[in-house]
Amino acid sequence: MLREKGYDEALFNHLRIDCSKCFGLCCVALFFSKCDGFPTDKVAGKPCLNLKDDFSCYIHQNLRNQGLKGCTTYDCFGAGQKVAQVNYEGVSWKENSNVAQQMYDDFLVVRQLHEMMWYLTDASTFILPKELKEKLHLLIKETEKLTEEPMIVEVDAYRLKVNTCLKEVQAYVSQKVAGNQVISGFDFIGKNLTKKSLRGANLAGSLLIAANLRHTDLSGANLIGADLRDVDIRDANLSDCLFLTQIQVNSAKGNAATKLPRWIVRPSYWEK
Ligand code: SF4
Repeated sequence: MLREKGYDEALFNHLRIDCSKCFGLCCVALFFSKCDGFPTDKVAGKPCLNLKDDFSCYIHQNLRNQGLKGCTTYDCFGAGQKVAQVNYEGVSWKENSNVAQQMYDDFLVVRQLHEMMWYLTDASTFILPKELKEKLHLLIKETEKLTEEPMIVEVDAYRLKVNTCLKEVQAYVSQKVAGNQVISGFDFIGKNLTKKSLRGANLAGSLLIAANLRHTDLSGANLIGADLRDVDIRDANLSDCLFLTQIQVNSAKGNAATKLPRWIVRPSYWEK
């Protein structure tokens, strides 16, 4: 057994997207382009042409059908509602245009802090030495505190600090399952990995687009930043992998037998 039996559900819920409490910040603050799966080319700070006055999306129901993967695979990790409702107390960029630019800048920083918190929270669910566990809890609290004043955060330096701790967790967990199992390579696009042992593998940042991972066991594998678009994880075991996000799962091809961590929601459109 790699993970603790219980976990803090509230911590994960706090890091989930809730567009109903946001001011469409990702649809305004980001620059994006058509070739990245967005509806149009747009500069940062300009609202998307599909954003309604109430900050919902005109084509929300059709984003998937229209292949707008840029929209469907973006995860703010709950930063949108945090900035809108906590940092700016429910006053939108439309109501107070003087603070609009600062709000967009804050959103971009809080989004990164919330992403770090997701990984730290995931790491904290593993059975770990006491000191490492305490370090994780302190970092979660510290990161949460930083979201109150995003303008003073040096994100790159802070990310290094968080990554050092996450790497310690990964080393401990992968050692436990596989004794330093190493899988070489980074580009696995379209590859068949069903014959490889992926327990404890370090797949951080790997391109696994449309790869075949059917029936594989990814216990202790590090999936931070891995591109899982259309990867086949039917019948695979991801319940004890490290650093998996909801959006990675949403972009993959799974089924009712795919095992997932308890806080990840099984996509309704997966094979039954
Ligand atoms: S299409 Fe909809 S979800 Fe995508 S950026 Fe525009 S408003 Fe946002």
